[in-house]
Amino acid sequence: MDCTGRQSAGWIKLDLLSRGVEIDESVFAFLAATANVARRKNFYNTPIWGETLSPPPQELRVLGVVVGLNSYGVSPWRLSWSRDQNSLALRNAAAGLEYTAEPLPDLHLFARHPQCAKLANLYGGAALAFFSPRTCYFFADGTECSFCSLAGTAEETVGFKSHLSEADVQTTVRTAFETDPERIEQIMIVGGNMRDLDRGFRHHVSLAAAAQTSLREAGRSGNVSVHIATMPPRNLDLLSLLRDLENVHVMFNLEVWDPSVFADVCSGKQKDYGREALILALKALRTAIGEYRAHSLLVTGIETAESTITGARALAEMGVSPIINIYHSDRHSRLGLSVRPTFAYLAQIAHGVQELYDTYPLKPYWRNCGRNAIDSEASHGLFRSPVPQSLEKVTAC
Ligand code: SF4
Repeated sequence: MDCTGRQSAGWIKLDLLSRGVEIDESVFAFLAATANVARRKNFYNTPIWGETLSPPPQELRVLGVVVGLNSYGVSPWRLSWSRDQNSLALRNAAAGLEYTAEPLPDLHLFARHPQCAKLANLYGGAALAFFSPRTCYFFADGTECSFCSLAGTAEETVGFKSHLSEADVQTTVRTAFETDPERIEQIMIVGGNMRDLDRGFRHHVSLAAAAQTSLREAGRSGNVSVHIATMPPRNLDLLSLLRDLENVHVMFNLEVWDPSVFADVCSGKQKDYGREALILALKALRTAIGEYRAHSLLVTGIETAESTITGARALAEMGVSPIINIYHSDRHSRLGLSVRPTFAYLAQIAHGVQELYDTYPLKPYWRNCGRNAIDSEASHGLFRSPVPQSLEKVTAC
């Protein structure tokens, strides 16, 4: 198999996420000369190591799929700008590969209404994301998930509102559908978690309801989904609040499947909620909002590939759509650069996930905009093919 067509897009994405990308200085000349490119706004994670001249794009479209632009230092992949052709190119000289990389345009919303840029983010070119609260109580206890960089990133960036109101979300969504009516496919409500988990859950549901009010006004609630990423409430009766939301997806994240790795990587979740209770909450969530609209994210690279695949299968069998997120080495996270999943490891997981997508009616959490997730690619069958030889050879070197 060669590496030129859409069929290779999933494999190229895996390699880019495994190795990261070096960013040539010419990219910053391109950004200076080009208006309206969506730049990294540091709402949640910072997988760009080293100083850059200005914020780079947070993702690119390559062979039709969205890929996170993560930069960990030396990499065979290099992003550069050709001034003559006015295009960005991703090159891997060792593998003899070169692709056009499309930067994603930002929303008119943020240019015309700068106050909205302090409240929301554009994720993957198609999801309007709200982050509230910008803190998580596990950091206060020193028991945060070891891959999470929320606290350091929040300290690094000022001016973003740390706790959003229903009015903030309702107004921003309404305005976004006036300025960018065709761009947004998903609304994401993301946390940060409050120590009072029931209060935190109610907060997230109330923000989702506020978003949906504006979607209904815009006549878009049927085709724009609303997504909530949160810890489960302690009182599972509160899940009934979700029944008032249309077209909703919710994630309660296990992060890893292996119980001993979970206790180590997610020590706060383990001590304060417990893995078994999280699985019970996921089953209750599935019952409350319907099969495969309940999701749980598994981060690759911090347990064996077999364990990730076993976990994804167990979730699929219980009517929960797994989310497979490729570990990105964030500055400010405890794991930092100490973990780097190889292409071969990710390819094993991708084949396993493809089999699940071919067996169960799974739904990707990010439909076409998951910059570090590979579920949408599996839903399009992009991991059915063998690994392209050019990547396999480079990996074997
Ligand atoms: S639950 Fe874990 S991953 Fe989520 S914000 Fe808190 S520390 Fe970060």
